[in-house]
This record gives sequence, C-alpha cells and structure tokens, in this order.
Amino acid sequence: MEEKEVIIENEPSGGLNFVEQEIKKDLEEGKNGGRLNTRFPPEPNGYLHIGHAKAIIMDFGSAEKFGGTCNLRFDDTNPQKEDTEYVDSIMRDIKWLGYDWEDRLYYASDYFPQLYDFAIRLIKEGKAYVDEQTSEQIAAQKGTPTEPGTNSPFRDRPIEENLDLFQRMNSGEFEEGSMVLRAKIDMANSNMHFRDPIIYRIIKTPHWRTGDKWKVYPMYDFAHGQSDFFEGVTHSICTLEFVPHRPLYEYFVKELADESYCPRQIEFNRLNLTYTVMSKRKLLQLVKEGLVNGWDDPRMPTLCGLRRRGFTPSAIKDFVNRIGYTKYEALNHIELLEHSVREDLNKTATRVSAVVNPVKLIITNYPEDKTEMMEMENNPENPNEGKHEMPFSRELWIERDDFMENPPKKFFRLSPDKEVRLKGAYIIKCTGVKKNDDGVIEEIYAEYDPETRSGLPGSDRKVKGTLHWVSVPTAVDVEVRDYDRLFSVENPSAEDGDFRDLLNPDSLIVRKGVKLEPWGAQNAKHGDHFQFTRLGYYTVDPDSEPSHLVFNKTIGLKDTWAKEMKKA
Ligand code: ATP
Ligand code: MG
Repeated sequence: MEEKEVIIENEPSGGLNFVEQEIKKDLEEGKNGGRLNTRFPPEPNGYLHIGHAKAIIMDFGSAEKFGGTCNLRFDDTNPQKEDTEYVDSIMRDIKWLGYDWEDRLYYASDYFPQLYDFAIRLIKEGKAYVDEQTSEQIAAQKGTPTEPGTNSPFRDRPIEENLDLFQRMNSGEFEEGSMVLRAKIDMANSNMHFRDPIIYRIIKTPHWRTGDKWKVYPMYDFAHGQSDFFEGVTHSICTLEFVPHRPLYEYFVKELADESYCPRQIEFNRLNLTYTVMSKRKLLQLVKEGLVNGWDDPRMPTLCGLRRRGFTPSAIKDFVNRIGYTKYEALNHIELLEHSVREDLNKTATRVSAVVNPVKLIITNYPEDKTEMMEMENNPENPNEGKHEMPFSRELWIERDDFMENPPKKFFRLSPDKEVRLKGAYIIKCTGVKKNDDGVIEEIYAEYDPETRSGLPGSDRKVKGTLHWVSVPTAVDVEVRDYDRLFSVENPSAEDGDFRDLLNPDSLIVRKGVKLEPWGAQNAKHGDHFQFTRLGYYTVDPDSEPSHLVFNKTIGLKDTWAKEMKKA
C-alpha cells in the first residue's frame, strides 16, 4: 500500500491524529461495547524521558479525549534491571504531566500465575517445548527473512518431559541460561517472531514484588498482549518497532482465550530529538559513570531533568502536538521543543533584572546618597501580573557585553559619547572608562539626563539602545547554571564509536556572582520561572537556599526555530 507522508501542522482544536481517528471509528462502530481503555506500560528500569511523554500523552490523552480510561501498568518482567526507585519516579513524572491513573495501577507481575498456567497449557497442547540449547545456538538456527530456520533438536520432546522440565526450571533446579521455554509455532514463517519465540527464561535474581517465588520469567512478547487482555484493554498503542510483533501479540491472545475480544495494537513513530540520546541504557550509563549529575541533571532528556531545567508540562504537550503522530520515523529538532518552552514561559514567567557578566557603571552626576524606586512590569504579556519596584542609584551593574570602547557601526549599546536608555529609568551618556593595568575595564562613567525618567512627561526622547541594569548597593549575588546541548553532534545515535566521546565538554557553565535585583531574590522559590530581562528564562533550582540562590538557565530568548520558520 502506498502511503504519503503528511506534514502535521499544529492541529486545530478538535483535530485528531491518525490513532485517534482509528479509536473514534472503533467507538462509532460499537467495538468493545463502546468502551475505550488504553494503558501506558513502562518498564521500571530507568527514568521516563521526553519520548515516554509522547506515549503518555497519546495513551492518557486519547482516553481523556473520548471519555475512556487509561491504566498504568508496570512491565516488571525482568527483576535484574528493575527497582522501586524507578517505579516512584515514573509515577511522579506522569502526575507532573497532569495525568492520573486513579485506581488503575497494575503490574505485569500480578499476572505471573496466569501466565505460568497459560504456558503449562501450551505445553500440554504440544505448543511449547523446553530448549536446552544456548542462546547463540538458537540464534544461529533462526534463519533469515528469506530463508527458513532450522528446527531445534529439542523441538519434538515429549509433552511429559517438557512439563517436568518447565516445572523444575521454575523450582530453581537449573542454572540461568541453561534452558528456555519456546512456543512451538513455525520455523519457516516469514515473520521471524513466529520462529518458535522464547517465552520464558530462568532468572534467579529476586523480584522486587514477588521475591523468590518465581525462577522463570515471561518474555515481553508473552506478557504484553496477555496483560492487555487480562485488564480489558481495548487499544494497545505503542511505537513502530512493535509492528512486526503484532501478529504474535494477536496469536497469543487468541491462544489464551477463544473469544472475539482481542486488544487492538496500533503503532506510531517514536520521538527522537537532535543532540540527544534517548536510549535508557545510554542514559543509565551517563548517570552511573557520573558524566551528568544524576537522572534529573537539567541537561538530561528525562522528565525530571527537563522539570528541573524549567521546562513545563504545557510546553512539552504543545511540542508533542506540533510534531504529531505518524507512521514514519523522524528526528525531531530540539529547537522546536525550545520554541514551545519559550512560548509558554513568555506567558507566565515573572520579569526581573539580573546581570550575569557584570561591570560597574557610575552615574557621576547622580547624588551619592539618593535612591529612586523605579516601577517595573512583572509581565508585559499579562498586565494583571502587576508591577514591582526596583531601586536606582548612582552605581549600577550592567553587562560587560553591553559596552564597547570601539564599536562597529551597528552597535546600539553603550560606547564613549553615546546615549542609551537604562530600562525603566533614565537616558545616560557615556563619558569615560577606568581600566586596570591589564587594560581590562573596571568602571564605566556616564551622566544621566534627569528629564528622561521613564513614564514621566517629556521622557519620550528616543535612543536606539535599552540596557538592563541592577543597582549595586542592593544587588544580591546568585549562582546561575548555564546549559548547552549535552552532545555536540546533531544525531549522536547515528555516529560510529563511543557515544560518550560525543559529549559537549561545555554543556554546563556555572556562574557565581550574578547580580540579581532584590525583589527577584526575595521571591525566588523552588521551581519558580523568571525571565531575566534581555537574557532568557531561568528557573530556581532545588539546590537553592535563601542564603545562596541557584538558578538554572532554562532557555535563552533567541528563537532560532522562529527565525528558520520565517526564512522558509
Ligand atoms: P526498553 O528498551 O527498556 O524497552 P523503552 O524506551 O521502550 O525502553 P518502556 O518503559 O518499555 O521503555 O516504554 C514504555 C512505553 O513508552 C512503550 O510503549 C514505548 O513504546 C514508549 N516509548 C519509549 N520510548 C519512546 C519514544 N522515544 N517515543 C515515543 N514513545 C516511546
Ligand atoms: Mg520497551
């Protein structure tokens, strides 16, 4: 079948993606008695990342849209890699995104007894056998998509022997890897997943929920569809790599229950982000090897990392809605995610003044003992947010970059004999500088024009540049952590070699002694979002304390995506 790729624009309200269209059709046709039940099935072997958010928004979001329900089911079938730390973090992150499974919290391990009984039944029906070959031998017999596989020498083992061995596998008599249970289906099937798939393996690590009750654990393909079935899931939505698994999914459900009901698996494309790795194995490696500062390092694509960085649930949802759900793998631009974050924070972040790379500006004609309170808007996008006052004095901090002694033509910031406006205050004119012995500027001198105070009559004289500033005597020193891309190449997963060699060495820059206006410092609670005027969006880090405030740079103001879109 020929399918054409469609560019999914930001969908108009009421617009449905292709999965939702399928769901709607099923509901209209009265399938499953008009019931909709989806599930989100994370394996508790790592923290959720933004790719999972795409699946969560689909699973919970579509249920919400059509008045259905969504289960949270932990796919806890491999005790070697799983941990309650992951379970807790997964629940926290789903709630943070704004979704709720209510009383529908399930675990694949709840179904171990039924799955075991089902395996016994398949053995009794001659549809499963114990194979004592090594995994290498089994792999070597698989064949290729165009050549049939080879039967295992254990394929025709008598039923009684299979039953006996499988039970003894479960009682712990045999070593891990010494034997597996395989479904006896078809070693010549064109779908490789039908070539006698392994359905149970021996694992002796105790399970965090079931302890040492079981020594055999079901494989994904033997657990997933059946779990969906046990829960009455109607739509099992997953990512494209499961397309070839779908026939096997349906095969086992039909073997399990001779009924007309089978959950419907629908697949969509994964979220992949530029300059990012999304593999849980690699993310775990970054954490374990200390290449980042934990799962919630603000450079990580994990939901807890993005949260700490200052990204919001609504920005993530907006981004997922923009990239859409398709049947085609894609690499999504991180700039688009950042664009969504900017759009959201622009509406909500409180504006304050901070100087990250300060140099002192002295207004020589301003009285030494004078302070004026200047009114500053909290958010020009939302007048209801009101205003706050910021002190102005003879000595101010401004950005070092906002001054040039020998500026090029189009430099509209401060330089000798030139005028700029200090935001919300006066127009000043630079009269000179003081340098140290190395030629580094230590102080900049200027005179202000008292007639130009912002908001007063006659203050409307125009100058090209406006600078932000913070008054020296009341400035609060804070720490700011600046982030850049974690990887220095666009698609680290596509490169040869060790992905760790592709890390950007400058992805974290810690700046101490950033000057923040006092009102901002008084109002900085964990997780609060601010816009530092002219610089970007910043979020208060959990490490922050009243005596030592810490801000994460969430994202700068410059929107490369919007620029690209304009060019296009
Ligand atoms: P693993 O290799 O450990 O299975 P996984 O990323 O598939 O890793 P799961 O915990 O099994 O992790 O994922 C839960 C659900 O999230 C699955 O349905 C999976 O399809 C979906 N998911 C995982 N990664 C992405 C992604 N990048 N984009 C969209 N959905 C994803
Ligand atoms: Mg998975």
